[in-house]
Amino acid sequence: MENKTMIQFFEWYLPDNGLYWERCSAQARSLKEAGINMVWLPPAYKGAGGRSSVGYDVYDVYDLGEFDQKETVPTKYGTKDAYLKAVHDLQEQGIQVLADIVLNQMMGADELEEVVVQEVAPENREEEIRDDVVIQAWTKFNFPGRNGKYSDYRWTANNFSGTDWDEKGKRGGIFKFQGKEWHVDTDQENANYDYLMGVDLDMDCPETAAAVENWSKWYLDTVHMDGYRLDAVKHIDFNFYREWIQKMRDYSGKELFTVGEYWSAELPRLLHYLDTVENRISLFDVPLHFAFLTAATSNGQFDLGSLFNNTLVKERPQCAVTFVDNHDTQPGQALASFIPQWFKPIAYAFILLRKDGIPCVFYGDFYGIPHDGIPPVTGLKKLLRLRRDYAYGEQNDYFDDASVVGFTREGSEEYPDSGMAVLMTDASEGSKKMKVGQHFAGGQFFDAMQHFSNPVVIDENGEGDFLVSGGSVSVWVTEAAYQKLYIEVE
Ligand code: CA
Repeated sequence: MENKTMIQFFEWYLPDNGLYWERCSAQARSLKEAGINMVWLPPAYKGAGGRSSVGYDVYDVYDLGEFDQKETVPTKYGTKDAYLKAVHDLQEQGIQVLADIVLNQMMGADELEEVVVQEVAPENREEEIRDDVVIQAWTKFNFPGRNGKYSDYRWTANNFSGTDWDEKGKRGGIFKFQGKEWHVDTDQENANYDYLMGVDLDMDCPETAAAVENWSKWYLDTVHMDGYRLDAVKHIDFNFYREWIQKMRDYSGKELFTVGEYWSAELPRLLHYLDTVENRISLFDVPLHFAFLTAATSNGQFDLGSLFNNTLVKERPQCAVTFVDNHDTQPGQALASFIPQWFKPIAYAFILLRKDGIPCVFYGDFYGIPHDGIPPVTGLKKLLRLRRDYAYGEQNDYFDDASVVGFTREGSEEYPDSGMAVLMTDASEGSKKMKVGQHFAGGQFFDAMQHFSNPVVIDENGEGDFLVSGGSVSVWVTEAAYQKLYIEVE
């Protein structure tokens, strides 16, 4: 079966021209040709920021660019019709579409309400600072521009458990609504990390749960997506998504591949989440992202042999979505931890050419980030093609050195000329004897990344002495594969 390859098809600074969904449609074919068969699209509903909203400041989940709300009909990305067409056009190419689901918070309410709250300490959400305080909170969502279409449900303070702004006192803080409790099964940072921002959805409130379920079914019926990317899962009752995803799968009869964003570099927290959701959801491999960052910023002193220690893709590969960067880690964003450009081809070789995990390519790496003058990652298109056509068969690992590590794929009969030897280093040039398989004995392997022009000859044991130049990756493939790549991907 063809390798699965995802792209996060947006970065933070896309233009607010409302033409993004058209761009998706226009790019569908070239994405397929690049080897992409899964696309994660940005949140498609109206945010508090209106036309400039990236989508995480959720205002109205029923407004997919259809109603005059927040001073615009289209979202930053365009109209509802263009959105539905983009999904359809991607699916026509055999690409699965993942919708971004943001159910932790809402923002930009239409009216204020007086709410009795407990103020808690920002660093310890279980510690009460003041009790019985009356604040004015932005909690009433009437959606006047939509006027009850699709759902006449209106949200009030009862749907939420807390907020961070008192309009009466013009004052920030963490305010827990009286009669509400933070969900216990959330991340334990700040004692309890249920609350993140905006007004926090209370999934224990039956009306909230019902509103979310009704919308989720409507969204599925309207868009016919193939799966989900779940935002901020560490801030939402862990039990909620375990049940939600099962309901959506039962309702649609589809597999609905789903990956959650649990932003933590600590593997035990990710494993605990996966245990709680019974592995029904995959998670992004955040520990691997930080291993890449450390490796890339240690002047060659990082032990590359230990790269995969304590990563999700090593400990629970069937639930790991590997990635190099995303819209939060790019420069200027909330979790900025952008992998330096020189290391990016190495990082992508690690996630694209190995057998475990589903890799997710970042839009900003594929197309570049004009906002920050960042070019596309060198060789990324070639690495994607190498993944699609040649990264098959048994994998042999050579993580036996602190600086020069590699792996091979022995190839599969299903994919002609597949098989490869991958060698990388974060330090100076090196070499390693690696086995690609006896069926290659006597053949020649060439470096698809073109750091070397001379071939490596495979000996009678199916091994070759492969080379890598300083701070780079070489991907050695058969002569036939090399010729094809040379002609088709430049
Ligand atoms: Ca929450």
